[in-house]
Amino acid sequence: MSGDSTSSASPARAADAPNGVPDDPIVGIDLGTTNSLVAFADAAGPRILHLDAELDPSAPDGGLVPSVVRYRGEAVEAVGRVAAAGLEDHATRTVYSVKRYMGRRFEDRADDAAASPYRVVAGSRGLAGIEIDGRVRSPEEISADLLAHLRDRASEALGVPVRRAVVTVPAYFDDAQRQATRDAGRIAGIDVVRILNEPTAAALAYGIGARGDAETIVIYDLGGGTFDVTVLEVMPAESDSDEEAIFRVLATAGDTHLGGDDFDRVLVEDLHEEAMADPDPERRARRLAVLRAVGSRAKVALSDAEATRIRLDGRGLVPDLDRTLDRPGFESAARPLVDRTLEACARALKDAGLERTAVDRVVLVGGSTRMPMIREAVESWFDRPAYVALDPDRVIALGAAVQGSILAGTRRDALLLDVIPLSLGLETAGGAVAKLVVRNTMVPTRAVEMFSTSVDGQLNVGLHVVQGEREMVSDCRSLARFELRGLPPMPAGIPQIEVAFNVDANGVLGVEAVERRSGRRARVQVVPSNGLTRDEVDRIEADSLEHARDDMLVHRVVDLAVNASLDVKWITEALDRVREDVAPDVTKAVESGLASLQSLITRAREDPRSVDPDAFHQAKDRLDRASMPVHEASIARSLRDDPSSER
Ligand code: ADP
Ligand code: MG
Repeated sequence: MSGDSTSSASPARAADAPNGVPDDPIVGIDLGTTNSLVAFADAAGPRILHLDAELDPSAPDGGLVPSVVRYRGEAVEAVGRVAAAGLEDHATRTVYSVKRYMGRRFEDRADDAAASPYRVVAGSRGLAGIEIDGRVRSPEEISADLLAHLRDRASEALGVPVRRAVVTVPAYFDDAQRQATRDAGRIAGIDVVRILNEPTAAALAYGIGARGDAETIVIYDLGGGTFDVTVLEVMPAESDSDEEAIFRVLATAGDTHLGGDDFDRVLVEDLHEEAMADPDPERRARRLAVLRAVGSRAKVALSDAEATRIRLDGRGLVPDLDRTLDRPGFESAARPLVDRTLEACARALKDAGLERTAVDRVVLVGGSTRMPMIREAVESWFDRPAYVALDPDRVIALGAAVQGSILAGTRRDALLLDVIPLSLGLETAGGAVAKLVVRNTMVPTRAVEMFSTSVDGQLNVGLHVVQGEREMVSDCRSLARFELRGLPPMPAGIPQIEVAFNVDANGVLGVEAVERRSGRRARVQVVPSNGLTRDEVDRIEADSLEHARDDMLVHRVVDLAVNASLDVKWITEALDRVREDVAPDVTKAVESGLASLQSLITRAREDPRSVDPDAFHQAKDRLDRASMPVHEASIARSLRDDPSSER
């Protein structure tokens, strides 16, 4: 609730709501062709507002509002998810992709209009309009209904009324299209404090332009129905000045009819053609909508799985379906689409007068860049890793929110420094942290360390990237988890896993793990400063000082336990091999040494603070002495068993 609420007895400051949200926040809105989102940035940086309260906020589509509105007569019947779910059943009254018509004349969009399940007509001044139940609405009005929905949900999420927003548009939008977007905001009762280019928003979300040198970046944005590539020149603002960074569009290219929808179609191409030929417009619309839905589900599944099965009860509209689709098949069928995006990249670079090598960074934006083939194609074409740390379908809204916070004067410069605010590390066996990059290191920086496995024949290794000053993972912030898969089976401790941490000038962390023998590799990318405030950094620092001694001891005990368990394993195996060759009292002494070391390991795992590291050393020494005869016998036996030693 806002601070001027009279029922509140507490002397809350008038300017701020109880949750720290300012009274008149500026949110960022990505008004997308397919999906729209709202984000808000405070001292912890930008975050997506989860607008559908009934949805699990951790769901992959949490926060995404389909840009879909359904009308009945004069009334708005449904917006967002509900409207999208009813698309098949209300095909002629449900408007999607209205962004295509913003500020455009009907005749310029006649092809779209012809393929549209809802009726697009020439409205006032020849501009495109949408006719439902005899009422013609302008694209601005429909966008306004969408914006009003987003605004209401955002107000609920923030607990204060939202009146001001930064709204994003494609870089190629002309004046008429930008004006139409402003008008949509005005109709919805929102003060559009700035119209921001989508590629600029993507750059801001990654902290590009906050510091450092001028950069040339390419934003590759493959959304639902459109593909845009933009070459941007970024000139960071002087630090300590109030100026904003300058983002100059050097060139744009793309295709307004190339996006995720086309990839959906690839999977059901044959059925699509059949449906297009249906002479009954209502039934054709429904058939196309059904196919769109199955195709899209299969496509999304193939971004994670190698194969997927689609089964469909066609309800008499389309043939019943039962097909298994695999990723390689999908990728080769979709290759021409991917190539078209790369051709557009080439055009954009040419228009900008740049070689591929002049590009400093490539940023992936748009839900469709989640398809592994897209990332591979783009990275190989530009011959460099792309920025993927932020969710590609949320980047634009996050960047819009950053712009909003700059305009509101609540920018969090404190963390956008030239140093790493908190140490970066990797979880090691036993839950300890190996710090690879220590706090206050200047960016850019790189650190490499070798790790190994702790279990025999381990085929997959889980890697956990953490941030913080404490010695145990449980006391640090988790940044990312990923897996190195498909290692050849080897005994514990043998694989050589090289892990490299790379922090670039924008503070983006790339972690790559390579197993030396097999060459298997895996990587992950994160923005460590996300969700971090200056206050929290200070608290974490104070906390680590307070626990420094205790933490160091715990870390030592955990490491000792890990090493000791390898010793226990090796000595147990050796003893089993040579049990007949050694005296019974040797066996007894070794077994008792193993038992006491094992009990220390068990205790250390349960509560590392309860174990004295010296006790570990003593137990280990005793076991080493007792097991000398075992090692000797073991060597003697292998000489005997090895036929090559007989010669
Ligand atoms: P827009 O910018 O057009 O509003 P988005 O950036 O939200 O669109 O992208 C929407 C597109 O992303 C849809 O075609 C959707 O199917 C696709 N998409 C989302 N997640 C995935 C995924 N995991 N794999 C493949 N495509 C995806
Ligand atoms: Mg988009």
